[in-house]
Amino acid sequence: MLTFHILSIFPEMFSGVFQESILKRAQENGLIKINLVNIRDYAIDKHATTDDYPFGGGPGMLMKIEPVFRAFQDVCGNAKRLPHRIFMSPRGTTLTQQKTIELSAKQEILILCGRYEGIDERIREMMIDEELSIGDYVLTGGELPAMVLVDAVSRMIPGVLGDENSFKDDSFYQGILGYPQYTRPREFQGKSVPDILLSGHHAKIESWRRKEALRLTLLNRPDLLEVLEFDDNDQKLLREIYQELR
Ligand code: SAM
Repeated sequence: MLTFHILSIFPEMFSGVFQESILKRAQENGLIKINLVNIRDYAIDKHATTDDYPFGGGPGMLMKIEPVFRAFQDVCGNAKRLPHRIFMSPRGTTLTQQKTIELSAKQEILILCGRYEGIDERIREMMIDEELSIGDYVLTGGELPAMVLVDAVSRMIPGVLGDENSFKDDSFYQGILGYPQYTRPREFQGKSVPDILLSGHHAKIESWRRKEALRLTLLNRPDLLEVLEFDDNDQKLLREIYQELR
């Protein structure tokens, strides 16, 4: 079982997301556990203060170190083993599918959600193993990024998704984007499902899917193709795509 300890000053934000659908079932089936920790409970004054002004001036407030430190001590002291400690931060390295696979093998992960203008830098220096960003934009807090991380990591844990193979065709798993998919009806307002998908010819369907996945990747995320090595079949499909795009 993978336990996520999530440290936040707004733990109530997580209830809807974690109490529905696949993440809810994963908890019921004992595949993941989510421990929400309210940093305010570890504040050291009677007003439960968690923020303060930045030294040197500047806009906004910062998360103070003491409440976070005390929350970390409590969580880490009670954990079965020292959790891998992540700070959600726009300064971090960008979360990738490869990273979610790596993290899904851990047993305990602690996620710190920042607020305000961020955290006292000593929190990062003293308590954090890695900083992860969910993209090149800035949100008001680390709670949404933490939800994204928990969701993306959990679905990589064997047993969490109904069909073990379903994530292997997802975008990024094989380094490229996912192929287009269709369901009933066969025709909607004059738009038909591609004939090949109705042919029952598995090898041809596989080849079509691979080609369309390559086409989408070339059009939407050419950067992904730059780091991949292609076999003869992929090279043939790519040549066809370039021809068709001319
Ligand atoms: N001043 C910080 C900076 O420039 O890096 C931004 C602080 S942001 C307003 C408040 C908190 O939201 C951050 O500490 C972080 O926990 C979270 N956050 C915002 N954008 C994020 C992103 N793209 N990925 C992960 N966490 C993010």
